Amino acid sequence: MCFTAHPKAGTAIHISSFTPLIKAGAAQAGAMLAADVLGRAAGWGALGPGPRTRPQVALTFDDGPSPRTLDLLMVLERHGAPSTFFVTAPNAAAHPDLMNALAAAGHQLEAHGIWHRPALLMPPWKEWAQVRWHPRAEQPGLLFRPPYGGHSPFTRLLARLAHRQIALWDVEGRDWLALPAAELAQHTLGQVCPGSVILLHDGPEVTPELLDLILHGLEERGLAPVLVSDLPMQRIGLRAGLGRLRASYGR
Ligand SMILES: [Zn+2]
Repeated sequence: MCFTAHPKAGTAIHISSFTPLIKAGAAQAGAMLAADVLGRAAGWGALGPGPRTRPQVALTFDDGPSPRTLDLLMVLERHGAPSTFFVTAPNAAAHPDLMNALAAAGHQLEAHGIWHRPALLMPPWKEWAQVRWHPRAEQPGLLFRPPYGGHSPFTRLLARLAHRQIALWDVEGRDWLALPAAELAQHTLGQVCPGSVILLHDGPEVTPELLDLILHGLEERGLAPVLVSDLPMQRIGLRAGLGRLRASYGR
């Protein structure tokens, strides 16, 4: 689900005539890989998990609102679990009633962009609009979660100009996979630590059941779900970024 650059191998017979093209392609692939490493994988400078010393975690849902939102709301209400929803502009516009229901239930609303595309595939003017859009009124300190987490140091510059902070995660619920909820829950709970920010999606059929299992598991471990602003998320520093890099590329 994550964007990575794959340099193409040059195998043409008349390779010399293609050399400038190959060089340009390699340079572009190298630049994209570097941006991917600095942005998505390491996340240096973006917001990541909260303090590992408090028994709290943050549940986050990307891509909504959707026809699945009410099911998620019911599970969250049953467990008394405040959560954060990173919504897209088209889905927020299509479901104003669900946006109101999320806000009324005390959940946090943050931005997941206008176009569900990695930032590295967008021209700068489009990325500027992408970073600036937010479901709440213009206020400082609002969060933007780039689609697929794909972003570059340039995205962070745009976010800074737009008074946004880039919010990533450290645990994936992997609810885009066609696996039983119990298996996904076991894997997710195996990754969770105090301070974790858990990525789930508002849309997949498995997510409400998975959410229920995760919440039971968190309760057993004495980990309380809180809003990302109450965690609070912390800036990913050098050491934490290196750890994320190892997890992204090292396994
Ligand atoms: Zn998404």
